[in-house]
Amino acid sequence: MIDYHIHPNYSSDAEGSIDEFCEVALEREFREICFTTHLDTDTVRNDAYVIVRGKRVDVRSGSWLEDYENSVRIAGDQYRGQGLEVRLGVEVDYYPGVLDHLPERFHDTEFDLVMGSTHLVDHLAISVKEESHEFFSRNNMEQMGNIYFSLLMDCVESGLFDILGHLDLYRRYGEEFYGGKIRSLWKAHVSDLARGMKRFNVGFEVNTSSLRKGMDEPMPESSLVAALRKEGIETVTVGSDAHRPRDVGKGIEIALKIIRECGFDSPSSFDKRRASPFVVQESS
Ligand SMILES: [Zn+2]
Ligand SMILES: [Zn+2]
Repeated sequence: MIDYHIHPNYSSDAEGSIDEFCEVALEREFREICFTTHLDTDTVRNDAYVIVRGKRVDVRSGSWLEDYENSVRIAGDQYRGQGLEVRLGVEVDYYPGVLDHLPERFHDTEFDLVMGSTHLVDHLAISVKEESHEFFSRNNMEQMGNIYFSLLMDCVESGLFDILGHLDLYRRYGEEFYGGKIRSLWKAHVSDLARGMKRFNVGFEVNTSSLRKGMDEPMPESSLVAALRKEGIETVTVGSDAHRPRDVGKGIEIALKIIRECGFDSPSSFDKRRASPFVVQESS
C-alpha cells in the first residue's frame, strides 16, 4: 500500500515528526509514503511560515527546505532496508503569482512529487468553514464553479505541478451552502480541465481526508474520478492527507477500490517527478 499525502510537523497545523509517521507506516505495512509538507506563501494571510525544530521560519527562506529535504532523505535511507520507501514531496498552495513567491532553493530541491492544491480564492481559504462561506456568499454556485475551475486551470497551466490535490475541495463546505446540486458542478468543466491536464502532464490524487470529516466520498468523488479517467487521464495517486501519525493510511483501501472501479490499473508512485505504476499486492 502507498500513501502519497502526509504532513509532518513543518507546518503549524500538523503534529508528529518524519520518524513518527514512518514508524506508523511501517507498523501498518505500507510499502511507500510521500511527505507533502505545506508550502503556503500568500503573504496577505498570516500563515506564510513553517516550523523547524519548534521555531517559526519564513517560508520563503531556503534553509527550512534544506532541512526538510535532508530529513526526508535520511528517513529514506533508514527505512528502505525495512521495506518502506520514503519520498520527498510538497503541497504547494496555488494562487495567481505563487511562482514569484517560492522559497529560495525550491528549484534546486530534488522533489519526487510537486502537488498543486487550490485552497485559496481571493485570499480566503475554502478549506476553512467561515472563510469558505464568505467566498460562497459573494457568488452563486455557477459563478463559484467558474472561479474555482479557472483557478484550477491556471494551476495546471503554470507547469509547476505533477498532480492536483483534492481537486473538488469546494465540496467540503459547499454542499451545506449550495445544497446537493453542487455534486454535478464539475460536469461543465471536466473536459477543459482534463485537456489541460493532458497537455501539461498533470495527474491528480484521490484524497481520503474527507472521509474523516464526515463526507461520504474521498476528494474528488468517484463520479469525477471516473470522468477524468474517461477523458484520458492516466496518472492518479492516493493519499490520506494525514496531519497526525495515527491518520497515516486511513481510507487508502477505499481510494484504491475507487480508482480500480473507475478504470485505473494502479496508482502511480513518483521518483524524482517521474510517475510509474505502483503494483498493489493484495497482501500489502
Ligand atoms: Zn490541501
Ligand atoms: Zn494536505
